[in-house]
Amino acid sequence: MSVRCRDCRGARRRRPGNLSCVSGIDTDEFKSMLQAERERIADAIAYLVSGSPGTMQDEVGDVAWGADNHVGDMASVTAERELDEGLEEGAQQTLEQVDRALAKLDAGTYGTCERCGKSIGDERLRARPWATLCIDDQRLADRG
Ligand SMILES: [Zn+2]
Repeated sequence: MSVRCRDCRGARRRRPGNLSCVSGIDTDEFKSMLQAERERIADAIAYLVSGSPGTMQDEVGDVAWGADNHVGDMASVTAERELDEGLEEGAQQTLEQVDRALAKLDAGTYGTCERCGKSIGDERLRARPWATLCIDDQRLADRG
């Protein structure tokens, strides 16, 4: 069930003072953005997860048995592996945020900061549709 404002459906701009809709944003548009993003991340995770187990051992094994000077290759394999793990972790986190944002869309609280309740802002949501904090609270959260 999604909460939708009949007045601003399809509208692309915020309407200050219109309290009947959630931050005056087009929830349908953000929902499809989030769903597309969710699919993309899920694909990336599936790819990383399926490609990871045993891969490094196999590759290092080849290098070790391949004789000659393959030390450089081995270093690059390690670097790739670290990059993959970093991506996976970041992707999982983003996926959780996307899910949360989708839940907020359904609850009708999308676009408002989870901490202070203020509007996150249309511009920020377009850059990061899964944002659940306003820019100020996000900075505080990033700082720990
Ligand atoms: Zn806030």
